Amino acid sequence: MEISYLRISVTDKCNLKCFYCRPEGMEFFEKEKLLSFEEIRNFVKALTKYGLKRVRLTGGEPLLRKDIEKLVKMLSQIPEIEDVSLTTNGITLARYAQILKKNGLNRINVSIDSLKPKLFYEMTKGNLEDVLEGIKVAKKVGLTPIKVNAVVIRGVNEEEALDFVEFAKEQKVEVRFIEMMPLGQGQIYWDLDMVKPLDLIKQKIEKKYGKLIPTTSVGSGAARVYYIPKYDIKVGFITPISNPFCDGCSKLRLTAEGNIKLCLRTEEELPVKDLLRYGTQEDLDNFIRHLLIEKERSNAQIQKSNYSFSECRRVMTSIGG
Ligand code: SAM
Repeated sequence: MEISYLRISVTDKCNLKCFYCRPEGMEFFEKEKLLSFEEIRNFVKALTKYGLKRVRLTGGEPLLRKDIEKLVKMLSQIPEIEDVSLTTNGITLARYAQILKKNGLNRINVSIDSLKPKLFYEMTKGNLEDVLEGIKVAKKVGLTPIKVNAVVIRGVNEEEALDFVEFAKEQKVEVRFIEMMPLGQGQIYWDLDMVKPLDLIKQKIEKKYGKLIPTTSVGSGAARVYYIPKYDIKVGFITPISNPFCDGCSKLRLTAEGNIKLCLRTEEELPVKDLLRYGTQEDLDNFIRHLLIEKERSNAQIQKSNYSFSECRRVMTSIGG
């Protein structure tokens, strides 16, 4: 198995409180518990031998990690790494967009679950205006193409699908709809009814804009991406519940405190921090070879379990969403 893509969580802290993501009053990791930038860089470098080409910084909210632009620079200077991107809630993006671009960030994904300021606030406790300003500045400095990710929840924001398409057209961004997963705080709210099968959203979009044209999806392969000729934009669907995509998945997550999470569906994590802190290069190589075998085994096991989710206590902000 080749690992071409890695998501790296740089903090478990977040400046939003999305109701389906994390509980109130969560305790965060002490600073010493987090991987240092050098440790992250060394892990990325070691993985390039096994095909790593693209990395995405996430969190928590990655823009809350002090000096994040320095990590961007360190990763973008690794010759084998072709693409450094970042997923953000956009709240402080306007402030950081330029310096991130200057230090080698290519592009961003921005999470927006509602385009209605009041509902956005109710869902996240954040101010939508800040996010829109962030997108404006990000476009200006060239952190493009921008993808906007929206978790669609039945009875909450499901009616906004067409508004998101209009937004994509106006803002020249790609929008991607995501099914809510039973993770972290999401477990409390989650039931199959709450997940809006994205096929219905797709039908709704097609009814208004005509047939969606499938594209050859790029990136980590989780999204099924379509083209809307009428508007010359793309929309994507990420369907972990209604149409899982484990086959051939080589996606790995490095958590902020230095564990490898093989898949969101299992509790399994392989700790790598001590190796990075105290081990030799040979130890690290052995770990990565073991990791590749474990990833294949985990994929097979998940498929055998009919794509079930084990009870995942970890919230997305601490895993690295
Ligand atoms: N702070 C950054 C952001 O907002 O994009 C990165 C981390 S955030 C945890 C990443 C994404 O995970 C967000 O789009 C969020 O909506 C999504 N997410 C959190 N909990 C989820 C769940 N239970 N199911 C599906 N997506 C979830």
